[in-house]
Amino acid sequence: MEKLGMNPVNSCPLTPLGFLERAATAFGGCRSVVYHDVVWTWRQTFRRCLRLASALVSLGVSRGDVVSALLPNVPAMYEMHFGVPMSGAVLNTINTSLDAPTVAVLLAHSGAKIIFADPAFLSLLADALRLLPAGGQPAPCVILVEDPYYKEEESTTSDEELAALTTYEMLLEMGDPEFAWVRPATEWDPMILNYTSGTTSAPKGVVNCHRGIFLITVNSLIDWAVPARPTFLWTLPMFHANGSSFPWGMAMVGGTNVCLRRVDAAEVYAAISRHDVTHLCASPMVLNVLANAPEGVRRLPAAGKVRVLTGGAQLPVAVLELAEAVGFQVSHGYGLSETGGLVVSCVWKEEWNKLPAPERARLKTRQGVRTPVMAEVDILDSETGRSVPRDGSTMGEIVLRGSCVMLGYLNDVKATEAAIRDDGWFHTGDIAVMHPDGYLEIRDRSKDVIVSGGDSISSMEVESALYGHPAVNDAAVVARPDEVSGEAPCAFVSLKEASTVTADELIAWSRERMPDFMAPKTVVFRTELPKTSTGKMKKYVLRNLANDMGPT
Ligand code: ADP
Repeated sequence: MEKLGMNPVNSCPLTPLGFLERAATAFGGCRSVVYHDVVWTWRQTFRRCLRLASALVSLGVSRGDVVSALLPNVPAMYEMHFGVPMSGAVLNTINTSLDAPTVAVLLAHSGAKIIFADPAFLSLLADALRLLPAGGQPAPCVILVEDPYYKEEESTTSDEELAALTTYEMLLEMGDPEFAWVRPATEWDPMILNYTSGTTSAPKGVVNCHRGIFLITVNSLIDWAVPARPTFLWTLPMFHANGSSFPWGMAMVGGTNVCLRRVDAAEVYAAISRHDVTHLCASPMVLNVLANAPEGVRRLPAAGKVRVLTGGAQLPVAVLELAEAVGFQVSHGYGLSETGGLVVSCVWKEEWNKLPAPERARLKTRQGVRTPVMAEVDILDSETGRSVPRDGSTMGEIVLRGSCVMLGYLNDVKATEAAIRDDGWFHTGDIAVMHPDGYLEIRDRSKDVIVSGGDSISSMEVESALYGHPAVNDAAVVARPDEVSGEAPCAFVSLKEASTVTADELIAWSRERMPDFMAPKTVVFRTELPKTSTGKMKKYVLRNLANDMGPT
């Protein structure tokens, strides 16, 4: 082979940014982004992104600098995903439901030079900027992303304060639509910085490179079998793991991005029928809200026409069954910010269609098998370090090895080394079992497992049983100290409207479906359970509440 004279210099760094250049040529006149009356074509989106990139460079942004965004799913947020890295900078989208002290911590940690903000989050940002440590790096320059569809009365920022800010459109005016965008020097150059949502611990800054994002984007489209020119509804926040890389994916397949400022069931169903939406992503919690919407609202053009990719948290069987009954065609996958998207998915088998509905639902709530780009997935026994047997009951930690695993956590060598070990395995902290057919199923996060009298209880298994009760809207199970067994399951439950059930009835319901020691010992009713903006249960909040209750 040496005689071939292969020259690696011939190969260009992999980057998803080139998808946009291609889309402008291949799909130039087709709709790229739609938001109320705003309709852009791929040619226009490309030129707007080049303007953004060139304006950032003229503001002094250089390779590797961090540029942040505090935005809902508006067109500018979509453009950030190309325009910012096309300037050589690293894009950091910030969760808009964080509080000011947390935003301040993230800005100080990332050293962001510029931040783009929506009017709804200007006062949050102003508070965060006031909290930045004195004597640190200069505060980022704020650019206002105006939105004609944002209701003014929600704003707490004065007209004078707004007038003093440079706006996004002013910045684009300054930019050059023919700009020669900054290509990565190597495909390993950092492109994205995402702070994990902190479901279990303090936020960590995940850094992904051009190569990783290129691969995970192609991977997710293939795995979900996304056809050319889909219409994609933005129900998943782009600030959450970059909408699991679908901003770049839509440019690759020339899709139309339908933007929504917020997820409201009526607005989602209206957008689906108005724009002929074919695809959307929704966490199980959002899927639950959509499936439980009032009957008049819950209308789909035709059963099976709208494909939903769900994941990000445990998918309860009851939620899946309801969503499919409404007419959504649901696919289920598993991924993390650390991988930029889908790394395991429940690949559906023809022969399963013949099974009874409850059995089909049970199979689909399993996370599944590795997606094409993830080279290896295993489940390791925490004590022996060996692969767990394929028996569907022995629990171990999911580990991953493949080309889309992050470069590391920003400025946190210790956390990076703890996550990516010397042998190359990335340790996810997710606890799962391997079924005899080679499909894996998550049982818990390592921090959420309840250890009762030496037995490990999967909080997800208990939650799944509770979700099956007709009165239950949401359920989360955490450990409560117990005098006899050390820890015992404590369930926090919210009920569906006009439904009633007692704690004893729910405990009895659980005992019929699992061994007694696994059933909740305590049931606490709440009108609403604490969740992150992406619909994940804030289990640490509930764990603290359960601890404060004292031992059972
Ligand atoms: P955070 O770790 O802060 O929640 P991520 O958004 O990166 O931030 O979430 C990744 C985690 O979400 C995984 O480690 C796993 O615990 C959970 N998760 C993702 N997909 C699924 C799924 N299909 N089923 C169960 N849990 C999931």
